[in-house]
Amino acid sequence: EVFVTCRNISKSYGPRPILRSVDLDVKAGEVVVIMGPSGSGKSTLLRLINHLEPMDGGEILVDGKHVGYRRVKGELKPVGNLAKARADARIGMVFQHFNLFDHLPVIDNVTIAPTRVYKENPADVKRRAIGLLTDVGLHRHIDHLPHRLSGGQQQRVAIARALAITPNLMLFDEPTSALDPELVGEVLSVIRKLADAGMTMIIVTHEVRFARDVADKVVFMDEGVVVEQGTPQEVLENPQNPRTRQFLNMVA
Ligand code: ATP
Ligand code: MG
Repeated sequence: EVFVTCRNISKSYGPRPILRSVDLDVKAGEVVVIMGPSGSGKSTLLRLINHLEPMDGGEILVDGKHVGYRRVKGELKPVGNLAKARADARIGMVFQHFNLFDHLPVIDNVTIAPTRVYKENPADVKRRAIGLLTDVGLHRHIDHLPHRLSGGQQQRVAIARALAITPNLMLFDEPTSALDPELVGEVLSVIRKLADAGMTMIIVTHEVRFARDVADKVVFMDEGVVVEQGTPQEVLENPQNPRTRQFLNMVA
């Protein structure tokens, strides 16, 4: 039961290849951690999976569907209504710098997509949002503006917001790398609970210990290429590629 398939993905910005023949499979309920040096294409790959920008070649299937593309005479063409395609795919995304709506109270940050995009009943959404904020330990902050919260609290709001659309897949792009060290644990423990609950997730992170505990698969990227992938045991304890080894020595 493969849930996400990336086949032979290529992407360039101008003349510069950013991703080159990237293959990646994520099974339903699996947690895949992506690591690799700055500029290796990790964020670009997540953005392509979430169809925040077009790819140049290859194909990506999420739950068996070409989100944002359809096949015309064997070729993939972008669909007209990308916003709808993205909404239907129900992919939740969490960014390094939280990207909350700073002028909206916490509760509205969490309810806005389900009510505006999915036109769900506001009372139901609010109830669910309070539940999600309670789950991430923020029920006392629902009426506060984001700037009153710590970075760790803001990132937990961002996770609750992503979960509010009842995602089938969660993407995390370095969710703890902008946080003070003492706030990292509270965010990782929320992500860990999602993993235990069986959420399908792709997580870009350099938290090696977390990856060892939570990942089903670790993917190491360098210069737009998947250099090595396997179990945490294989990639983190016994890396075969010198670039993986060098990187792990640097971050560990
Ligand atoms: P980091 O660890 O620093 O977040 P990354 O692995 O996520 O790095 P990407 O953000 O995917 O790397 O970027 C890969 C390369 O693509 C980088 O060299 C970056 O400068 C370039 N790049 C990313 N986005 C754009 C863009 N919109 N236009 C031009 N170049 C871009
Ligand atoms: Mg990045």
